[in-house]
Amino acid sequence: MDGLLTFLGTGTSMGVPTLGCDCAVCASEDPRDRRLRPSVLVRWRETGGEISDLPPFPQKNAERMGHGEFARSGHERVVVIDTGPDFREQALRNSLTRVDAVFYTHSHADHILGMDDLRPLSFVVYREGGPIPLYAAPETAKALERIYEYTFSPQSTYPTRARVQLQPLAERTLVHGVEFLRVPVQHGELEIAGFRFGRAAYLTDVSGIPESSFALLTGLDHLVLSALRHKPHPSHATVEQAAGWARRIGARQTWLTHIAHDLGHEATNRALPDGIRLAYDGLSLFVNLETAH
Ligand SMILES: [Zn+2]
Ligand SMILES: [Zn+2]
Repeated sequence: MDGLLTFLGTGTSMGVPTLGCDCAVCASEDPRDRRLRPSVLVRWRETGGEISDLPPFPQKNAERMGHGEFARSGHERVVVIDTGPDFREQALRNSLTRVDAVFYTHSHADHILGMDDLRPLSFVVYREGGPIPLYAAPETAKALERIYEYTFSPQSTYPTRARVQLQPLAERTLVHGVEFLRVPVQHGELEIAGFRFGRAAYLTDVSGIPESSFALLTGLDHLVLSALRHKPHPSHATVEQAAGWARRIGARQTWLTHIAHDLGHEATNRALPDGIRLAYDGLSLFVNLETAH
């Protein structure tokens, strides 16, 4: 089964341009130098049809679609990894009309602060059968419960709260026929979650990859790895470190994300080895979503 992997955002926590900065990358006219906060989207058609059978985006507004009409147009499924502070803008740019599940990598602001913008999409999914599952490790779930107390508290009476439900993040999670495998990575002192789905993997905010996780990353077509800049940082890989892991993992193509304003798109890409490129907001890749493990 084929799906599409789309980069909703490829910037570091502050985004690019960075507020108050007038460096060459922040002032660049190249749209690929404008980076929203990091997140990706995985979408596919559950009934086994080809992804090219999907109605072209932007699709009809799901709000105006009856249940039967949705079924006839095929069960399009959408998974988002992280909902950062730019989630609403990213959903608009990519004409998102539904989200079937969210996976969280960790609880830092640039990865969770758009959760509340799931509200309108959650009403659509809720009418079809229930709340949107949010898969999160215990520490991430605790942060979400604290920040969005009005959403998660059993005492909450806020009528238009997001119809979402925290779910423990298992080693393997099946979402409408596609398996998401948790791939532990190191982010400074924290152990956080990366994900593998079919022949693609998304590892962001990486400063180290445990030996046991390399075994989960064999046979990839597309590997997404974070690489902040060239200068070392305590909790993020440099371009050089990421390129080293990329060589070892040996995916057909490696895409770098979570990029700071130190790296201009064009100049950085020209210097990267074959098979490694910077990703950019809006880039979409075909991915084989069959479980390989
Ligand atoms: Zn981050
Ligand atoms: Zn700058």
